[in-house]
Amino acid sequence: MFFSTHDSGEALAAPTEAQSLYNQHSMSVKPEQIVDVTPPPMSRADRLFLPAVFKGLGTTLRHCLGNLGRDGKNTKNIHVVQYPEERREHRDVLDGGQYVPTFRGVHRLNRDEDGRVRCVACFMCATACPADCIHIVGEESPWEDREKYPKQFDIDELRCIFCGMCEEACPVDAIELTPRYEIVGLTRNEMIFDKAKLLEVYDQTCEEKPM
Ligand code: SF4
Ligand code: SF4
Repeated sequence: MFFSTHDSGEALAAPTEAQSLYNQHSMSVKPEQIVDVTPPPMSRADRLFLPAVFKGLGTTLRHCLGNLGRDGKNTKNIHVVQYPEERREHRDVLDGGQYVPTFRGVHRLNRDEDGRVRCVACFMCATACPADCIHIVGEESPWEDREKYPKQFDIDELRCIFCGMCEEACPVDAIELTPRYEIVGLTRNEMIFDKAKLLEVYDQTCEEKPM
């Protein structure tokens, strides 16, 4: 019951629980195609964790000595960016640089041709956001070409995971992620970007990343 054999008569190991389940429900997957990834039992040495600790220290030491006296130029082992003189966008992408056209950095709220916020307060971005970091308060629009606009629009940049779902969800291209990655603040509140700040980011980056 626990062993099966090849045509050659060679004994196979007992099927695991996952294999048995597959055998019952799917005849298209052969048992030999299933890879058992159950971790092997820990040895006594493993239980002490010392070999892993020394292995980790060895890796650290290798990187440290490999870079010694090379002023961070040993790219074989480690990428050192002499920030702020050297910036990621100045390096080749294959050399650990930033690919500006698709980089997802700090958000901006785009303006329309008349300089008004493009957002129509539809809440699609807030609904799509997996980190729940967009807070919008909609209000009746003072303009005739749309029903609503955001009275308040806040993004918590510390909660954000920069996934880009918000810009994907927006039906009017009002929210975008920019190539900017330098965002600093002394308090958590400073990292909550409100409407004015998000529009300011647009003003600063519209040349860098046109709509
Ligand atoms: S980038 Fe992702 S996590 Fe950040 S605000 Fe947009 S949807 Fe939310
Ligand atoms: S930014 Fe776009 S998706 Fe978000 S509320 Fe405004 S219009 Fe809707």
